[in-house]
Amino acid sequence: MHTPVEIQNALERILPRVTKPGRYTGGELNQVVKDWDSVQTRLALIFPDLYDLGFSNLGLAILYDQINQRPDALAERQFAPWTDMEAALREAQVPLYSLESKHPLADFDILGFSLPYETLFTNALNLLDLGGIPLFASERSAADPLVIAGGHAAYNPEPMHAFIDAFVIGEGEEVIHEIVDAHQAWKRSGTSRQDLLTRLAQIWGVYVPALYQAHYEADGTLRGMERLDGGAHVPVLKRVVGKLPPPPTHFIVPYIDTVHNRVPVEIMRGCTRGCRFCHAGMINRPVRERPVQEIVEAIEQATANTGFEEVGLLSLSSSDYTHILELVDAVAERFAGRHLSISLPSLRIESFSVDLMDRMMDSRRTGFTLAPEAATERMREIINKPVSIQQLLETASAIYARGWNNIKLYFMIGHPSETMEDVQAIAELCKAVLAEGKKQIGGRAQVTAGVSTFIPKAHTPFQWAPCDTVEQIKAKQDLLRQALKVRGIKLNWNAPQETMLEAWLSRGDRRMAEVVYQAWKRGARFDAWKEHFNYRAWLEAFTAAGLDPAFYTQRERPLDETFPWDHIHTGVRKKFLSEDYLWSLRGQTRVDCRERCFACGILPTFAELRRQNPGDTWQCPEVKNKAAKMRESANLR
Ligand code: SF4
Repeated sequence: MHTPVEIQNALERILPRVTKPGRYTGGELNQVVKDWDSVQTRLALIFPDLYDLGFSNLGLAILYDQINQRPDALAERQFAPWTDMEAALREAQVPLYSLESKHPLADFDILGFSLPYETLFTNALNLLDLGGIPLFASERSAADPLVIAGGHAAYNPEPMHAFIDAFVIGEGEEVIHEIVDAHQAWKRSGTSRQDLLTRLAQIWGVYVPALYQAHYEADGTLRGMERLDGGAHVPVLKRVVGKLPPPPTHFIVPYIDTVHNRVPVEIMRGCTRGCRFCHAGMINRPVRERPVQEIVEAIEQATANTGFEEVGLLSLSSSDYTHILELVDAVAERFAGRHLSISLPSLRIESFSVDLMDRMMDSRRTGFTLAPEAATERMREIINKPVSIQQLLETASAIYARGWNNIKLYFMIGHPSETMEDVQAIAELCKAVLAEGKKQIGGRAQVTAGVSTFIPKAHTPFQWAPCDTVEQIKAKQDLLRQALKVRGIKLNWNAPQETMLEAWLSRGDRRMAEVVYQAWKRGARFDAWKEHFNYRAWLEAFTAAGLDPAFYTQRERPLDETFPWDHIHTGVRKKFLSEDYLWSLRGQTRVDCRERCFACGILPTFAELRRQNPGDTWQCPEVKNKAAKMRESANLR
């Protein structure tokens, strides 16, 4: 057992030997340190990537704020130690600890992992190991912390089912309190750990994998999930909040440079565009917006609390925020002359976006990002992101004309039915955009093309689609490299092997947990970091687990296949997704569902919540209650 004082003393010896010790000290402005013994529940919030990256994660900040507002609970933080720090901790036999109080992770009641992407899975195992906590949920006793996880990658929890006691599916603001309450009630009851799991499984949005068993067909596909406990939900419906709670404003200010040194303010959640590849767009439905005044006040308070000079107004599609002009004007007026830089990411490809950016106070004009995702109109119809080449070129021209030198264009290769002509078109489009720039600002014009590879994700219309092979991806990337040896154009891409890993994990089943474990045992860590990604460890892990990687990525799945994530319900019906997939194969598009509701399943699933939150906060049509309906029909008569 290590006490916080012993850990602090050990850190004084260790930290001078590691890079960026500021990652591991805590003590930053606005951290919350509560009296350990005066609360009933201690929760460690863990982002299993480097501090520099995880620090600005909004989900973590929201939960930190929510828990620390409770007088009976505390939340502290930890991130993944870089390899030098890991080696130093292991050598000194110091367990992983929380940044605030330096308590070992094993002293906490609950460890809450944030899993926004699949390439954090091995890091999560590593952090459990560094904390001295049994890796497998089945090996934990009542004395061990409860290990929970949430985030976008938790929407297919199966590859991590063996290591996590309970997953939060969906939004955490309310459910985290119910989990803490259930934990406190269980502690008072003095019953078994199994009883805790049963209690948790009854909470809306909580999935306890130990209470289900997977059965497989002879061909390796899933036959179904058997519920082992009558109290566990089938399916497990994601948690949503009816109204976005006030945004956090007491952000912690790091000592060291992090990826985003800014205040993040979420202006809306969800997206109505229906891009078929987009996991976030499907799982975050319905769209709910924050009032303009609440956002402006949050910026005021957060900048005063932190001293940050940059604010990011976050959403999946900023130009779709209903009151975007009002917001931009209100921000410009309120903060005029205060040297505040406001960023508005994820803008649509239209000249209105350029107007918006112009009104913002960000005077740096470094790069303007547009994400056409595909370069031919055919391809954009398949992915449901219709925008004409003419519209794109006009927008590009306006961007250069208004003072930006560099346009960042985001594309994906590997979309369903893509041909080499579609890939060639990416190069042609980049050149056409550069030509627009040259017309406006001559040789100063630049294009940065970021070309990632499409990965079919669970719960999207493309969940049936195969992923390109490494060879196919390489051939497409070679083509682009050759075609884009052009002065003024810079091309960025991802290694095909990295794509494979994410593709295996994002549609993996329970058997994949063994692969994750075997890969970790072979040294896989920081899989999202090029310098650490160990493809061979993963291939060996598949062999050790007796599984074929191609089974998870390369086959087109039949429409009636039972998926390992079918028992997780996002509110969007599988039938809607399969119809949308078929629409896609026919090149049919859907308009923004604010113009026309396509009955994706969200409204009937969350009808009561919609009723409780009338008005235009939600972007789905209103659901009338019975009395209102009767009044309406009486008026009609
Ligand atoms: S219920 Fe209709 S409006 Fe709401 S997200 Fe689904 S398709 Fe869009």
